[in-house]
Amino acid sequence: MTETIEPTAKAETIPEATKTRGRIRLFEVSGIQVTIDYSWLIIFLLVIWSLSSGYFPYAFGKEYNATTYWIAGFVATVLFFASIVIHELSHSLTAVRCGLLIPEITLFIFGGVAQLSKEPDDPRMELKIATAGPLASFVLAAIFWVIMFGLEHIKAPKLIIGVFQYLSWINVALAVFNLVPGYPLDGGRILRALVWWKTGSLASATKWASDVGKGFAWALMILGGYQIFMGHLIGGLWLILIGMFLRAVAASGYEEVIVKQSLGGVRVEEVMVHDVVAAPPELTLDRLVHDYFLKYGHGGFPVVRQGEAVGLISLAQIKGVPEEDRKTKTVADVMIPLSEEVEIEPRASLVDALRKMSIVGIGRLLVMQAGRMVGMITKTGLLRFLEIKRVLEE
Ligand SMILES: [Zn+2]
Repeated sequence: MTETIEPTAKAETIPEATKTRGRIRLFEVSGIQVTIDYSWLIIFLLVIWSLSSGYFPYAFGKEYNATTYWIAGFVATVLFFASIVIHELSHSLTAVRCGLLIPEITLFIFGGVAQLSKEPDDPRMELKIATAGPLASFVLAAIFWVIMFGLEHIKAPKLIIGVFQYLSWINVALAVFNLVPGYPLDGGRILRALVWWKTGSLASATKWASDVGKGFAWALMILGGYQIFMGHLIGGLWLILIGMFLRAVAASGYEEVIVKQSLGGVRVEEVMVHDVVAAPPELTLDRLVHDYFLKYGHGGFPVVRQGEAVGLISLAQIKGVPEEDRKTKTVADVMIPLSEEVEIEPRASLVDALRKMSIVGIGRLLVMQAGRMVGMITKTGLLRFLEIKRVLEE
């Protein structure tokens, strides 16, 4: 359904605890981990309930008993949710084919969130990824329709035919809803890609698509309010919730592009700190806290042995160590050793720096050139840079 792109790369670098909190892992396809959020189970139960005690009994009356309706409702719901997974996977598999890395898709209350390693680089790529989902839904609708037709032909029980009719219909609805040209819906992404293609500006294309998206979101909320007024409380609340969610994503999508644009043309060397205070690896954590964290007030330090950077340490690494152990444990015991993940080149862009920081989660990176540390870049420094730029450009 709706996609939110989060700038997160390799899933294995995200701590296990945050990765699975409130989520259930389903399966893995082409390296993409499909996970469901617990909120999805609520919707699952709601859909089963509304099909088994509303939709099917309404269509077939007393022809079947309650148990049969619940079985039909369960089967239809499972296939409906499988259809949503296929819709999401079509986006993701297309993105993977375009060379983007997608470690995980999470299905939550309003659809799916695919974690892309980065945004599509060009409008054609975005267009391909955005159209893949609705296309898959239309194909599924056609398949269910053919099955329904076949069942009618062999004179199968009406309820079974009804299940496939519902599935065919719901997949058309899914595709059509997602084709509304407001960001973050697929249609909004398609609109963004087309405007981007025509104007060459991702920022103005995103503004267009997110404005339409916000308009659509407001329309849903107003419709929801009207429904509540007319006595349809659940349906109305539902529309209001979807509208609120879409509005928030539409707004944040635009801001993200603007931030990326102001960061995009700037290189790490322009923002990095040159004179870095470094901590020695043999220092005990106790001393580190007193002589470094409390003295300098920084959130982290590079670890340097005889002029050579060997790692990075921040409060996060010390937090997990019990107080009595801090007198004996040293910096080298708990630091993040020097690796690809905590270093960046001086000529890399700030967008890459920000992305890397969000993966490691310690808000700083060592700036390394030809194996030597030439500085450090911090999230605080980066935000200060953005703020200065914003003030001066107003
Ligand atoms: Zn979609």
